[in-house]
Amino acid sequence: MKAYTQHYINGEWVEASSSQYLEVTDSNTEAVMATVPAGTAQEAAQAVVAARAAFAGWSALSVEERAVYLDKITAGLKARSDELTTTIASEVGMPLKMAGMVQVGMPIFNWGNFAKVARQFEFESEIKNSLIVREAIGVVGCITPWNFPLNQIALKVAPALVAGCTVVLKPSEIAPINAIILAEVIHAAGLPAGVFNLVNGLGPEVGEVLASHPEVDMVSFTGSTRAGKRVGELASQTIKRVALELGGKSASVVLDDADFPAAIKGSVGACLLNSGQTCSAHTRLLVPESRYEEAKTLAQGVIERFTIGSAFDETSKLGPLVSAAQRDRVLHLIQLGLDEGAELVAGGPDKPAVDKGYFVQPTILRVQRHHTLAKEEIFGPVLVMLTYKDEDEAVAIANDSVYGLGGGVWAGTNEHAIAVAKRLRTGQVDINGAPFNAQAPFGGYKQSGNGRENGVFGLEEFLEVKAIQRPAVKA
Ligand code: NDP
Repeated sequence: MKAYTQHYINGEWVEASSSQYLEVTDSNTEAVMATVPAGTAQEAAQAVVAARAAFAGWSALSVEERAVYLDKITAGLKARSDELTTTIASEVGMPLKMAGMVQVGMPIFNWGNFAKVARQFEFESEIKNSLIVREAIGVVGCITPWNFPLNQIALKVAPALVAGCTVVLKPSEIAPINAIILAEVIHAAGLPAGVFNLVNGLGPEVGEVLASHPEVDMVSFTGSTRAGKRVGELASQTIKRVALELGGKSASVVLDDADFPAAIKGSVGACLLNSGQTCSAHTRLLVPESRYEEAKTLAQGVIERFTIGSAFDETSKLGPLVSAAQRDRVLHLIQLGLDEGAELVAGGPDKPAVDKGYFVQPTILRVQRHHTLAKEEIFGPVLVMLTYKDEDEAVAIANDSVYGLGGGVWAGTNEHAIAVAKRLRTGQVDINGAPFNAQAPFGGYKQSGNGRENGVFGLEEFLEVKAIQRPAVKA
């Protein structure tokens, strides 16, 4: 058990002012693995003041100078990747090998990629007699969740820094250790004081200061729609730019001409990544009414191969949930689904045969459109199946959600799948099991948020646009 006692403010590790600490549990063992200080509103404000003071100097550097710092941070993260992998496998519970690729490999890629994207980006262009200049928006408050903690930080902090912004980060209290390691790496890279600041603590305390402080120009938030609404409300008082990446209830639409075994296998996998604790997880599986029994048998065959166990056990394909609260929330929703009349296809609310860890059995339920589970984000290893009569109804069900983050379409041809993908009101659609593209814009329609992350779209979020008009040149 390690006790962290400091925040990182103005280029220094500073002792926390309060004696309140937050416990971080290992989701595999339920043991307390560390404590972090519960930051105060005053510490958050101090960090904002430091970020404001550093802004003029940092934004005046050339893009190349800032990109070189990102390269150093990328190298520093690579050097500590084993430690980061075991840390996140403990904090979040994702099986070790997968955690190495997704939870650590992906953010390292993103830090490097944002340096590359910025080097190629046209920060200046022309429209007739106007010079169009894209400039850093200013001080950015970043509030991040626990499910892909280091990557969600990378998708905000890396583009903000390379754009010329200065940053105050408040990571999730549930998975904060990886952010402390990142701050150590950033410190070692020698960033000027105040450019990056880390304050640990609770959302309603530290997060709300970032969302409301007049010296914060932009708040970039990933997490629940509930907290995102609060952040947007607070930020509106000072007309900050607000980027929100929120929940989802994405549908995997399996069309009649699809390769069913591949489609069902792919859909179940796209639901269960990170034990279903993924905002863009494909948590609704839509199949033709006439082929429900076939799809159900296939899904049962696929899900039984997801062996649950500790992230550190090589045979595990599915780790625990992140916390007791998350496990209880998911179990409650499974029970609610059964109480509302859903058919249990696999798994269920019974405790799996493991001694420790916040485990939930991978579960499939067949639900009806009006059921709570057809609409509410579960954020656990739970897939709901729905049936449709024809393609129009499939599209209508897929779009029958307050969310609009991701989705999948499986069809006999890519053309058929693309035609249906274009009808879905979501920010991303994967057709026929295509892989995730870390350079493509990621973000939501409707209540899944606004703004986009990843690649060039992710960089543009942190830029303001200025038009400078020049007098016409006299002939
Ligand atoms: P939250 O939305 O509460 O947490 C995300 C981040 O927001 C954390 O850093 C949290 O701080 C912070 N936060 C919370 N309240 C506020 C506030 N009032 N002002 C500013 N910041 C705030 O998610 P939970 O961890 O509670 O998870 C609950 C549900 O949210 C999940 O079951 C899931 O449905 C959804 N979720 C969606 C995610 C996504 O990627 N879209 C990610 C995580 C959760 P703190 O450290 O106090 O938690």
